[in-house]
Amino acid sequence: MQERKVRVRFAPSPTGALHIGGVRTALYNYLFAKRQGGDMIFRIEDTDSKRFVPGAEDYIVESLTWLGIKFDEGVGFGGSHGPYRQSERREIYRQYVDELVARGAAYYAFDTAEELEARHTVDANFQYDARTRMSMVNSLTLSSEEVKLRIERGDIYTVRFKIEPGQTITIHDMIRGEVLYKSDVLDDKVLYKSADQLPTYHLANVVDDHLMEVTHVIRGEEWLPSTPLHILLYRAFGWEETMPQFAHLPLLLKPDGKGKLSKRDGDRLNFPVFPLDWIDPATGSLSKGYREAGYFPEAVINFLALLGWNPGTEQEMFTMDELIEQFSIDRCSKAGAKFDYEKGKWFNHQYMLLKDNSALADMVIPFIEKEGIEIVADEMPFDGKHCTKAYVEKVLALIKDRMIFVQDFWANASFFFKSPEAYDEKTVAKRWKPESARQMGELLEVLEPFDFSDPVAMEEAAKAWTEANGYGMGIPMNAFRLAVVGEGKGPHIFHIVELIGKEETFRRVKRCVEVLG
Ligand code: GLU
Repeated sequence: MQERKVRVRFAPSPTGALHIGGVRTALYNYLFAKRQGGDMIFRIEDTDSKRFVPGAEDYIVESLTWLGIKFDEGVGFGGSHGPYRQSERREIYRQYVDELVARGAAYYAFDTAEELEARHTVDANFQYDARTRMSMVNSLTLSSEEVKLRIERGDIYTVRFKIEPGQTITIHDMIRGEVLYKSDVLDDKVLYKSADQLPTYHLANVVDDHLMEVTHVIRGEEWLPSTPLHILLYRAFGWEETMPQFAHLPLLLKPDGKGKLSKRDGDRLNFPVFPLDWIDPATGSLSKGYREAGYFPEAVINFLALLGWNPGTEQEMFTMDELIEQFSIDRCSKAGAKFDYEKGKWFNHQYMLLKDNSALADMVIPFIEKEGIEIVADEMPFDGKHCTKAYVEKVLALIKDRMIFVQDFWANASFFFKSPEAYDEKTVAKRWKPESARQMGELLEVLEPFDFSDPVAMEEAAKAWTEANGYGMGIPMNAFRLAVVGEGKGPHIFHIVELIGKEETFRRVKRCVEVLG
């Protein structure tokens, strides 16, 4: 067989929000294709009109764009193998369905829904296959005149795949190795429905993979049971030579307990299972997304890359380019991957630390503005109403190691922008001593000579003062923090006062003494 250019596809059905497992499938296809210098196709599998959900296609595109997963061709991306939306390929499928019938590999079936239902009632295990097909109403049991007549007068029919029993189908899965199936267990799958003149998933999927010259089908484990049928279809068409290689990715498992990760796990344990917020158009219910929860796209990519693949080294942090460089299907595991969402948060935190403070400032400024503070160009003394972007960057340098998400900013930083309005009761009870008011007065005298640009010098002076008076560093410094922050948290106190400045620090300490006495 001649070397073919690697071509993979991501082929979602627009039936709702793209699940995070689907995002991982797209990612692994992308990494594989780029590693091999190949192409990635975006195909929309919308032949099941009953399950079509408006907005789902746009949602999928927006999600993958946000994450930096790019396509070379497909719906919205151009290319020479289109159209790439299956609902626009009816005539193509029709032609291939006819070909299968002509080859004797498929047949027309006229059984009505009621008739099929009746068979199921008699026999719960009823399956339309080699054992039963000759007792059904189809082109194998009717005369050719009768078949022609029924079709011409517009009877509803399906086309079914005629699966011969007694064959063993071997899937050479790139992750799982050889997986064997017996054709005896397969039923004569419906390939086409005259009612809506559309093929089913199986036929459209195989015909398109063939026509779009797909070389590798990388998809979720849930599609493994469809693959023997797909292999038989390739054979029935005589396309064995160009049959793609298959790789079935491991399931994403619940973070706790057994079984597949579901949306309900996300609701129960409070983490998103979708890339972006999604409002179900039918019910109006909102499903939370990674983007809106404050995840960085790089963190989501890094997290997903390691859910089912490992580099074989200790390395955990990967840029997309590094992933492309190192990704290989044979380092994917067959065992399900536990969805450790705490690890997802860890990654976000790591990317937070790596982000440059100017970029991060742009992301947190909306939260500051929401609190009524205006961002201005020129530095000015603290007034609780204005600040510069440079100031925000300095604050970030001090507190970003406490943030997982940009949304954590204000809770960790409010005191850099506004004077405390109240003092946390527990901290007051613990940290404000009878001598605190007097000590704060003394501390202000100690700090008076400083312009607050040198936190190290101020700290030394404060230390010398506590030692000379035998106060011990803890008690006055805790009271000082309470006065400045309003509670017991925050970064180094002299770094805080350096930023808010001398005037504001003095104001806060004096006010605290007034209030707490
Ligand atoms: N349309 C299928 C899906 O929604 C595609 C499965 C496949 O990749 O073959 O995932």
